[in-house]
Amino acid sequence: MLPFLDLPRRRVIFGHLFVALVAVVGAAARLTAQADIGPGATRDAAIEHPYRHGVDVQSYDLTLDLPGTGNVISGYAVLEVRHTTRVDTLVLDLLQLDVDSVRMDGMRVPFTRTPGEIHVAFRPNGKFPVRVEVGYHGAVEDGLIIRTDSAGRWTGFGDNWPNRARNWIPSVDHPSDKATVTWTVRAPANRTVVANGELVYRKPLPNDRMETRWHESHPIPVYLMVIAAAPLVEYSLGPLAGCAGNSPVTKCIRQFVYTAPEQRSMLPGAFARAGDIVSYYWALVGPFPYEDLKHLQSSTRFGGMENATAIFYADAAFRTGRMNEGLIAHETAHQWFGDAVTEREWSHLWLSEGFATYFAALWTQHAHGDTAFHRDMAQIRATVLADNESVPTHPVIDSLQRDLLALLNANSYQKGGFVLHMLRRQVGDSAFFGALRNYYATFRDGTALSDDLKAAMEQASGQQLGWFFDQWLRRPGYPELEVTWSSDPSSHQVTLEIAQGTRFGAYRFPLTVELRDANGATQRTTVVVPAENQVRLVLPAGTRPITPSSLVVDPDVDLLARIAVHHR
Ligand SMILES: [Zn+2]
Repeated sequence: MLPFLDLPRRRVIFGHLFVALVAVVGAAARLTAQADIGPGATRDAAIEHPYRHGVDVQSYDLTLDLPGTGNVISGYAVLEVRHTTRVDTLVLDLLQLDVDSVRMDGMRVPFTRTPGEIHVAFRPNGKFPVRVEVGYHGAVEDGLIIRTDSAGRWTGFGDNWPNRARNWIPSVDHPSDKATVTWTVRAPANRTVVANGELVYRKPLPNDRMETRWHESHPIPVYLMVIAAAPLVEYSLGPLAGCAGNSPVTKCIRQFVYTAPEQRSMLPGAFARAGDIVSYYWALVGPFPYEDLKHLQSSTRFGGMENATAIFYADAAFRTGRMNEGLIAHETAHQWFGDAVTEREWSHLWLSEGFATYFAALWTQHAHGDTAFHRDMAQIRATVLADNESVPTHPVIDSLQRDLLALLNANSYQKGGFVLHMLRRQVGDSAFFGALRNYYATFRDGTALSDDLKAAMEQASGQQLGWFFDQWLRRPGYPELEVTWSSDPSSHQVTLEIAQGTRFGAYRFPLTVELRDANGATQRTTVVVPAENQVRLVLPAGTRPITPSSLVVDPDVDLLARIAVHHR
């Protein structure tokens, strides 16, 4: 399915790039010292994260001069930074590019350049927050993907996931540090510049150039801060493209699609229901988190990349007609989960990808019915069961994994998505969606870990769910079941003998079975299977007992398990 297009594409193309970058992340993540909070700063979750401990960027004001040919850019970054008094040095991530100057609160200050970082001393008793300015320039090799399109036109598209923003943005390049961003981009006038947030202005400059400013007022992680500069044409999906349908005051956002001129005639195409998708998630979870939503034909190396307010889709998806509703639903769901509520640590990536995977399936159910939904869930389960790389050997929350690329796997996507479905079945629809609304409202514009979701689910359901999160997210694998059933025609009693394989250990789960008799009459029963290797369960006889001729285990695809059924 195309929603998962981004999975193989990410893996294939970035394999070699990553090793050097991850070393930077790993080293910084080991800094765990506790620090005091300086005057003017407040203690909050954002400032206590381990990456660049004690530093919290509040805003990025980024100015870029883009060329008409080649890949040499010049940039000026203004960061508003809070920090604790025990942190004496600001470390910004920036690879390769030449740093021309650094200013702190308006004064030019010395700095140290390493291959991947800029180090600047905080001034003692300085003001809070600190205004840091970095002037830089050079040839960009990654992060901002510069290339000519098939018509020979110069284009530039940001493509930062997971920590490639440091190729072109001086930043604290980690999802735990979210900030607002303003983009001011000067480019040839025949390039349309699109970026995060709201368009502030477009202003002609001499020499056939144009200055464009966009502003995102909600804090977002650096990996979602992007621009597009290309010969894009705008297509409006209308002023009501995504509304809060059940709100007393109807609120809507505008949505746009930006394509190369040659692809404009295909619109709205797969985007015809983009408004309905936003309205559905809005009603299900809570308000759309941003000002508007744009969909762009881009140079992203992923099938789709969920940049806040500006989803970048692979150029090829447009050119080959592979753009589809499932991919749009996946990336749109990320605006809530991943973008607005961001995983604080990479190991909790399933809070982003598992959610987007499951919410795309929920859209399928809403738009196309239960049969289509069951087909989606069966496909998701089949992908998990077929996986030999990650699922059998690594837990979903994989805190030992240092290769971020390796986290783009069937654990983060399909298993994470299926775990959400089982969580819904465990607590019930009302508690599940109530908890998601609370979780979203609480952590919107911030960051979360899996235990934050657990707490929301426990509060809404009144259940203790530690066992659920541990068995499904902190252990590799899934149940492997041998179900042997037999029936006694005289008593109408059906007996299940369930053996759980030893490879992944025993799991606890509800199991639904459907009995069917020779006339086609059916009867469903749900039993709770304990975490034991062997268990024998006698199904309670229904109100109208039947003599079953066949038995279907898990008829609605509610359990992530490999299931073999035998009749005795
Ligand atoms: Zn995704």
